[in-house]
Amino acid sequence: MVDVWEDLLRYLEFLKRIGVNTLPARKNIRRFLDLDFTPPPKSLAEIEEEIKNCTRCKLHRTRKNIVLGEGPETARLMFIGEAPGKDEDLEGRPFVGRAGQLLDQMLNTVGINRSEVYITNVVKCRPPGNRTPQPDEIEACLPYLTKQIKLIRPAIICTLGRVAAQTVLATTSDLGSLRGKIHKLDDIKVLVTYHPAYLLRNNSQKSAAFEDLKLLKKLYGDLCKIS
Ligand code: SF4
Repeated sequence: MVDVWEDLLRYLEFLKRIGVNTLPARKNIRRFLDLDFTPPPKSLAEIEEEIKNCTRCKLHRTRKNIVLGEGPETARLMFIGEAPGKDEDLEGRPFVGRAGQLLDQMLNTVGINRSEVYITNVVKCRPPGNRTPQPDEIEACLPYLTKQIKLIRPAIICTLGRVAAQTVLATTSDLGSLRGKIHKLDDIKVLVTYHPAYLLRNNSQKSAAFEDLKLLKKLYGDLCKIS
């Protein structure tokens, strides 16, 4: 809890320094914590240590495991989903259920190996019954995601589903209008596509998701050629 207040105080001091003396109504506050406002963690292990007993939001009451994320600290590509589901909650790993299997297949289709990317979610504990995370839960958990992005500093983020897209891009625009474009979060390119769990229920959207993946493959392929 101390960290939350320290982050908040730093943020308010920064706003004051740049001449912001009043804050807009809550509904207009940018939902994504800017990457500049959180102290950089030294390693994923440091974030793991910080999160392991987290009770910042009510999701801690029903979780079995916290699911921080998985993948190399040096990943150039990061996937961000919505929240752990039942299988992820049981195993403490992201995207291990049916949706995870579909994500693996989607990645294979465009020649990307899961072991080279970092995968996480907006919130790190399972919402009961797999419901959509609520705004206060997302807000409470955002400092962890911010720290993960700051530490890994991927070149590309691919968001999976509406909640991840709207959170990362700090927008209320619908998923359809966000797909097919390259967005920016600081110097990080952000692509938006469907959540694999949605695709499992809506087979007809798989071809649209494949178009998103082709764009991702092009961006990631260009990156690998350069580096
Ligand atoms: Fe903490 Fe995030 Fe879990 Fe809420 S969802 S208890 S903020 S780790």
